[in-house]
Amino acid sequence: MKHLQSKQIAVIGAGPGGLTLARLLQMHGANVTVLERDSSRESRNQGATLDLHDESGLAALRAADLMDAFREKYRPGADSLLIMDREAHVLHADASSRGLTTERPEIDRGPLRDLLIDSLQPGTVLWDRKFEGLTEIASRVHLHFADQDSFVADLVIAADGGNSRVRSYVTTIRPVYSGVTIVEGNIADAASHLPHFLERLSGGYRAILAVGGEKSLATGTKGDGSAAFYCGFKVPENWSKETHAGFADAAGRLSWFHETCPGWSSFFDPLFTHTNQLTPRPQYYCPFDQHWDAKPNMTLIGDAAHVMPPYAGEGVNMAMLDALILATELCSERWTETQSAIAAYEQEMFTRTAEVAQMTMHNTAMFHSPDAGMQLVEMFRGFATESQALSASQVLDT
Ligand SMILES: Cc1cc2nc3c(=O)[nH]c(=O)nc-3n(C[C@H](O)[C@H](O)[C@H](O)COP(=O)(O)OP(=O)(O)OC[C@H]3O[C@@H](n4cnc5c(N)ncnc54)[C@H](O)[C@@H]3O)c2cc1C
Repeated sequence: MKHLQSKQIAVIGAGPGGLTLARLLQMHGANVTVLERDSSRESRNQGATLDLHDESGLAALRAADLMDAFREKYRPGADSLLIMDREAHVLHADASSRGLTTERPEIDRGPLRDLLIDSLQPGTVLWDRKFEGLTEIASRVHLHFADQDSFVADLVIAADGGNSRVRSYVTTIRPVYSGVTIVEGNIADAASHLPHFLERLSGGYRAILAVGGEKSLATGTKGDGSAAFYCGFKVPENWSKETHAGFADAAGRLSWFHETCPGWSSFFDPLFTHTNQLTPRPQYYCPFDQHWDAKPNMTLIGDAAHVMPPYAGEGVNMAMLDALILATELCSERWTETQSAIAAYEQEMFTRTAEVAQMTMHNTAMFHSPDAGMQLVEMFRGFATESQALSASQVLDT
């Protein structure tokens, strides 16, 4: 990795992709700084539980030598799932089958972020750095932030998520609206506000996925006693930009749910009355054939490179695998210049994430189809058959 010697690397965004990359690069002795928009590591609720896949998210954690930290913070059984129809009838109970517990252990987003930050050299993450633009002067990149001094780097890696502001400096290809928007909610104290949910989840289940009427609703508890949910439905792209006055109070949120999801059981009502807000998140994906020529000093990882809806649970896994592959290429003795390493990473990334994005868009359509319940049950029964041979500790012990 002679080409990186005495170079300053800037990673923009302290999500799972950017932090994993910083950790892997520091293990190889690289000089890396992460610049993050959030004002501090505590400043924002970090969202729901994520499942890490053996061949991607977990592979990156193993390479980062963070499996011990992961074992301390993951949530055994968090993936055990009840699939329901909109009348709250259980269609399928997936407690131990796929071993979503074996191949796909789950961890809350906050603890994952914490373990990655704690693995970095002190002072690696500079908070309160909202990227606004860049200028290239000679071979160096001057990064500009809102209300902060510029930062000068030799290599810039954009890990600033699905609304990446860096992406346009690498490619003119824009993400495409998927046709589905999610509203996300969080309930601080699930035991007080959702006792009937917890009762239904007794027996070791942690999450419910309900589908019906071309809508989906996924909800689960988190390790801190809170619950999160996201409700997916088909609307035009600009729906999220309109003002939703009804979202301001509990009664308005509930009547929005009743209007948007007719025929859904009152079992789901407390989610909408007890969430403190509803956050609209239109879902995008990148063209399956996206491609650009490698730049000498800039690339994209994670959602910034290939945002996709969450219906295959691949987004965080692809972000962390990008980090692993990019770090491996950048630190390989094969390359004498950074551009060749970036090109090798991007070629692999284009092919891999095109396949995953197609599968994700298939699932997105399936979750919001008229016979979603039947198709989901078939899919989960297929998972169970595939993974009967795995023992509960097989993956985590490796
Ligand atoms: C409701 C929902 C549920 C999901 N569920 C799952 C799931 O179950 N499984 C799964 O694998 N994936 C899921 N995803 C997708 C997953 O969250 C993303 O794919 C993953 O977080 C991508 O990681 P990342 O590091 O690329 O980006 P992000 O996690 O988005 O991190 C980007 C970081 O960059 C920072 N940033 C943004 N803009 C700027 C800026 N201008 N300047 C500086 N910093 C900036 C952000 O604050 C953030 O810290 C879900 C997504 C949503 C919306």
